[in-house]
Amino acid sequence: MNTTTFFAAVILSLGLAASQAADKVIFEDSDFSKGGWSEFIEIPGTGGWEVKSRELGELVQGVVQEVTLEGDGGVYLSAGRGNYGSIFRGEGVIYAFRVRNGERDPVGQVDSSGKIDLRIGFDGAFFIYEYRSGDKWSRIGKSDIVGLVPYKAGVSTSSRASGMSNYRVVELESLKGVRFGYTNTPKIPGTPWVVHDPFRPQPRQINPGTVTPRDEPGTPPSDAIVLFDGTHLDAWEDGKGNAPRWTLGNGYFECGKKSGTIRTKQKFGSVQLHIEWAAPAEIKGSSQGRGNSGVFLAGLYEVQVQDNYDNLTYPDGQASSLYGFRPPRVNATRPPGEWQAYDIIFEMPEFKDGNVTKKAKITILHNGVITQHGVEIPGILGHKKTQPYRVHGPGHIQLQDHGNPVRYRNIWIRELKPIR
Ligand code: MG
Repeated sequence: MNTTTFFAAVILSLGLAASQAADKVIFEDSDFSKGGWSEFIEIPGTGGWEVKSRELGELVQGVVQEVTLEGDGGVYLSAGRGNYGSIFRGEGVIYAFRVRNGERDPVGQVDSSGKIDLRIGFDGAFFIYEYRSGDKWSRIGKSDIVGLVPYKAGVSTSSRASGMSNYRVVELESLKGVRFGYTNTPKIPGTPWVVHDPFRPQPRQINPGTVTPRDEPGTPPSDAIVLFDGTHLDAWEDGKGNAPRWTLGNGYFECGKKSGTIRTKQKFGSVQLHIEWAAPAEIKGSSQGRGNSGVFLAGLYEVQVQDNYDNLTYPDGQASSLYGFRPPRVNATRPPGEWQAYDIIFEMPEFKDGNVTKKAKITILHNGVITQHGVEIPGILGHKKTQPYRVHGPGHIQLQDHGNPVRYRNIWIRELKPIR
């Protein structure tokens, strides 16, 4: 029996556990209030409990749930259908699993028999899976990302079973708004943060007003190269140089299912770029899964496009961030469905003998509000990594297909040539 099948078998067997007298899960409510970081209380009439408060300062070992176990059983922490962390023992083996969007990843496993404690911790960014045998807590593993809201928690127990799942489930409203990100990523050069650091301060959300139009697009300066005027995609191609597969709408174009990257036929170096975009009006997904696209300068440096209107994500990955490097100064995102604008001033890096002699520099206005000001980019930007510069020349302006139907309109560009 492989682990997955075994896991399923254990879940099923828990539903039939009433006859298995040897299996005993002791739900020790008193333990939950001892940690100092949270306070749990019973919910009258439900047999359940909820977290009433928690300190965000000391979450390294924050215990979300803990049980004492004789025989088989375990605990889980869930964000609804298809997303949960779970730790349990079956046939002398302790398993830790993360399931995200229905995809199951084993986090770790270890042999252990006899009476033990199991717990799932939460450090603000990770689930942590541990067991105690004797006095010592041992870590089995931790999940590399969470972003699962709202939470439910449960304990598999024969004495407090409810329904076929035999899990007692409680909504944890107070765990909403958890932090998203990674802590196992490299340090960003010149900062105290790692790439996509969940503990980096969140930019304040502001109302950007109407410095840039929302309903009707403006008109470009007379010396601009118009990349999209609302009527055709002649200036664009797909990532292989073929006709773009994005859909042309009434005055805009939109990322379709598996339509791939779209990029300008022309390559550009230092530029002033004006581009307007709208996240889907219908809200779907959360964190990086909501209204995600991106504008790549020189084909390499992503200015994130994302619906971050009341949608938390890791700060260096939200709208108007330099992806994986630097959050915007403020979150000037408009509500989904509304048109918004980026005005980007990008200066190319310079190289000599294979080395960078001047780093790329960028200034961004999001809906007319300055979000990046003369920022030196430390290297090539990317997901969960830092990359040093590599010598490059002008590149395509590229728009990302991140699987969300993001729209663009009114795109124009002015090349920044040296002035005499
Ligand atoms: Mg993106």
